[in-house]
Amino acid sequence: MMTTDSSGDVRLSGIGKTYGSFTAVHPLDLTVPQGSFFALLGASGCGKTTTLRMIAGLEEPSSGTVHLGDQDVTHLPPYKRPVNTVFQSYALFPHLDIFENVAFGLRRRGIKSVKKQVDEMLELVQLGEQARKKPHQLSGGQQQRVAVARALINHPKVLLLDEPLGALDLKLRRQMQLELKRIQTEVGITFIHVTHDQEEAMTMADTVAVMNAGRVEQLGSPTDLYENPQTTFVANFLGTSNLIEAEVDSKTGGEIVVRAGGGKLLLPEARCSASTTTGGKVLVGVRPEKISLAHADDAGEISEARNRITGKIVDSSFIGVSTQYVVDSPACPGFEVYAQNIDRDPRLVPGAEVVLHWSPAHTFGLDAAQDID
Ligand code: ATP
Repeated sequence: MMTTDSSGDVRLSGIGKTYGSFTAVHPLDLTVPQGSFFALLGASGCGKTTTLRMIAGLEEPSSGTVHLGDQDVTHLPPYKRPVNTVFQSYALFPHLDIFENVAFGLRRRGIKSVKKQVDEMLELVQLGEQARKKPHQLSGGQQQRVAVARALINHPKVLLLDEPLGALDLKLRRQMQLELKRIQTEVGITFIHVTHDQEEAMTMADTVAVMNAGRVEQLGSPTDLYENPQTTFVANFLGTSNLIEAEVDSKTGGEIVVRAGGGKLLLPEARCSASTTTGGKVLVGVRPEKISLAHADDAGEISEARNRITGKIVDSSFIGVSTQYVVDSPACPGFEVYAQNIDRDPRLVPGAEVVLHWSPAHTFGLDAAQDID
């Protein structure tokens, strides 16, 4: 059902944070629409937690404003904002049982009859059976679900999650990612989730803001960020990227022709974020799983329409569904190319001369002035 409710929109306008002469968050503009699952993704120290804490009211911004719906909350204390935060440390009350932990927010507001609401919340997080246990009798994942129930019981417009799954082991983390996604869909409120784990952000969020050094480097859906990275940082942070240095040759009907390692490659103009003046440098990117590998003897069988570079296999590792190859190519001296292939051609072993080929449609172009490490 379409909703016109915007009370859970989060709008950051020029919001920034400095500590002395150090800028943790450069002034940024960001709108998170009501009901979306939004992730702030980036490496340690990029400013994602500071951004979240400014939304929560736990950190005073050095510039800019925070709006929740139509309300300017920039100078409101945390408890007056219609938001709640779940932290990595669940911070449950150890002496209270699960029911009372979840009921806490209601009791503090002087609400007497809490049973119906608490029972509903415990059902939502699938802990109805555990109501009378103490936190230490639950698993890490269950404790985190109690923390979510406790944060949701006051019906915030926005739930902020600061690395909430950071303390869990990988298997539990994956289960909880799906669980949180289900809860968000059920309650329909805005979730803003901070994580350094790209897979986690991609699994859960509708929209991801990739942060780097206090700035949002790119904003988009997980697919868009993966398929169309606009900076080398995003290309390398989300998955493995092959980046080939090339020179712009010409343009034909929406496609750019570039030269790399003595050959030509095609690149859709719409997928190129770099300037494409003839003779200019551009980095051509392609994800490993989009590349097919053929033995050099079979080069004649590859369609003319495909991009191709030659190389020599350096290493291969069988990973079940496919084999991963590391290839040395004269098209990108000094860099290895990663390819992934489901063919089990016995000739594709280290030392073999190969042709790497892929569809031009899966090629993206980046500004070559960036650092490609
Ligand atoms: P992490 O995942 O490690 O928490 P983060 O991306 O969330 O990293 P922030 O916690 O937002 O990063 O911190 C951004 C930068 O601001 C870091 O370099 C941090 O050292 C600095 N910083 C954070 N709080 C303070 C403070 N109170 N005083 C000085 N510098 C701070």
